Amino acid sequence: MAEQYRNLIDGEMVSTAKTLDVINPANEQVVGHVPACGAEELDRAVAAARRAFKTWSKTPVDDRRKVIQAMAGVIQANFDELYRLLTTEQGKPHAQAQYEIGGASAMMNAQSTLTLEDTINEDSDTRLSRTRRVPVGVVGGIVPWNFPVLMAVQKIAPAILSGCTIVLKPSPFTPLTTLRIAELIKDVVPAGVVNIITGEDSLGPLITAHPDIDKITFTGSTATGKKIMEGASKDLKRITLELGGNDASIVLPDADVKKVAEQLFWSSFTNAGQICVAAKRIYIHEDIYDEMSAAIAEVARAVTVGDGANQGTGVGPIQNKKQFDRVCELIQDAKDNGYKFLVGGNIDPSGSGYYVPITILDNPPEDARIVAEEQFGPVMPLMKFSTDEEVIVRANNSDYGLAGAVWTKDTDRGVKIAEQLETGTVWINEFLHLSPFAPFGGHKQSGFGAEYGVEGLKEFTYSQVITVKKDALV
Ligand code: NAD
Repeated sequence: MAEQYRNLIDGEMVSTAKTLDVINPANEQVVGHVPACGAEELDRAVAAARRAFKTWSKTPVDDRRKVIQAMAGVIQANFDELYRLLTTEQGKPHAQAQYEIGGASAMMNAQSTLTLEDTINEDSDTRLSRTRRVPVGVVGGIVPWNFPVLMAVQKIAPAILSGCTIVLKPSPFTPLTTLRIAELIKDVVPAGVVNIITGEDSLGPLITAHPDIDKITFTGSTATGKKIMEGASKDLKRITLELGGNDASIVLPDADVKKVAEQLFWSSFTNAGQICVAAKRIYIHEDIYDEMSAAIAEVARAVTVGDGANQGTGVGPIQNKKQFDRVCELIQDAKDNGYKFLVGGNIDPSGSGYYVPITILDNPPEDARIVAEEQFGPVMPLMKFSTDEEVIVRANNSDYGLAGAVWTKDTDRGVKIAEQLETGTVWINEFLHLSPFAPFGGHKQSGFGAEYGVEGLKEFTYSQVITVKKDALV
């Protein structure tokens, strides 16, 4: 029987009469029930966070670090249970779920070491001017379904390190592991500092509009991000938005086909392509296009699509039906337009589970939907290019600007291209690497503000300038 999960409000695990079902995308079975919170539960969580803020914001930062480290320790100590549960609700293969749970714990430990130093603006005979950072207050965190645990902790850790308290809402599709973590951490975090509540999408706008929440930190789609910006404008809440992307990978003619093909494949197909910074358009120089596309296809044919809980699965199901339908629609559009499929493309409608076969398109036109839109699924278009100038224009031809990659032995040439890409992150000869110490954020419609590093931590604070006129009273 599917388990009942509870929410964390004010240090207590609580239930609601109404609940939501959570589905395993590998077989469409209900695997858990979670509280369906509304305005009343949100009010209670926000009031608890507001009460806790009074003492937490005055708690020495080194003590706050220790609480974050204790939470990271609890996650690590329950690693086996958590990664299995994550696969059950999210669909990703066990190895990738292990990476997410281990990464979440490591991310918290790393972020706990960050420090916001005061800065001196002026220290003259007449005046001492200093900038300090003060926590904004109560944070509302809203999280998507592709990396539910990593996205949750990367909001919780910097929020509470800065002295804020938080009310976090997981995606209704993937709340289980986060709620299990809530239960595990409740004894190491003071009551009210971290509150985790679940509900339908409709709980999101209530958070954005809540008059006693001071800041929203959101990861999700650009469409929802725009609604959040609009909602938050009413009382000028601070916002950080990590949104969608249509990242281009550029493969120069000197790239080593054997070494790069497999990495290119996984840059697109890890987590069944459901990664904001997955390579969603791959541009390969015409001199090596045939060889490289054949090598990528060979890698693809050796990868098994299936239940993430089965040994040997490389690519799991799509996380939910809505996203599955969208990816199927993009594949159908490619078929209707007569684009060439190098691998896959045929979806088996029989059986349960949201499975899409690994699908690779051979040089579709630039205006194809699969090129122009964020697919967020295991479907990758490979395209040919001739010159650096041409590929830079094509890569930048997007409203998104999240990340990108360049693959080459000539790193100077790679960096020169990177500097012309309109994205917040560019990797040379790697992909998907996010450092807890480097700011991560999108240009254009991929985001607003940043997460990670000191820059990300600052987003949970206001600056306050204190100026002392040294010679005023003497
Ligand atoms: P989504 O925008 O549908 O949902 C994200 C969260 O917002 C969920 O918790 C949802 O319940 C909530 N929500 C829905 N409507 C809301 C509203 N009106 N107001 C407030 N909250 C609302 O996104 P998704 O489908 O869960 O995630 C996929 C998208 O997230 C993709 O576009 C992907 O690129 C993006 N993403 C971005 C990053 C990044 O760091 N930039 C990381 C992961 C995913």
